[in-house]
Amino acid sequence: MNQKGLLLVVSGPSGCGKGTVLSRVFAKQPNTYYSVSATTRPPRPGEENGVQYYFLTREAFEERIASGQMLEYAQYAGNYYGTPAQAVDAQLAQGKNVVLEIEVQGAKQVKLRRPDAVMVFIMPPSMKELRHRLQERGTEAQEVIQRRMDTARLEMPQAKDYDYIVFNDTVEEAAEDICAILRAGRCLAQKNLARLDRAIQEA
Ligand code: 5GP
Repeated sequence: MNQKGLLLVVSGPSGCGKGTVLSRVFAKQPNTYYSVSATTRPPRPGEENGVQYYFLTREAFEERIASGQMLEYAQYAGNYYGTPAQAVDAQLAQGKNVVLEIEVQGAKQVKLRRPDAVMVFIMPPSMKELRHRLQERGTEAQEVIQRRMDTARLEMPQAKDYDYIVFNDTVEEAAEDICAILRAGRCLAQKNLARLDRAIQEA
């Protein structure tokens, strides 16, 4: 029987380069599935429903919370964000690793519900670089950028509660670090108990 996949939670301040690093990880790790979240924030230019996010109205989002379809959810910068549970469980059962790219409040909920989740916090190289990246994105108003910088200052101390902290000094190194974490996760004792038991019985 296939080993269940690894549930990897990745957080980090908006603009720290999570998306770019994770794209590299997916290019290197075909057996890894990106969990598409739902959100009530409007799409940015180029974003498509069902690809980056499922874009929902507040009413539709709240309905999904009420019917227990969200593995976790949080309000961030005035909008709801959440992880639809069903797709995550289906992929894990097929032996795929599942990556949740979510903020810190949601990450805490996942750890409580799924204690075997592996938690990674991605840090920007510096606060100066973070502001620069948020400004370069060019799609957000100045006020939104300031709000995201303030949120980053609140989020970063919470990295201490994660299993791993990866500094995004270069995309390639950060992606390699995450691949190494996925690899090590496959060998966690807790993930191999069934096979271990079979081997012991055969012995
Ligand atoms: P953005 O609007 O920049 O795409 O995302 C804003 C923040 O929401 C990021 O920190 C991102 O990781 C987080 N986020 C995205 N999807 C989810 C989700 O499903 N749940 C939670 N809790 N946070 C999410």
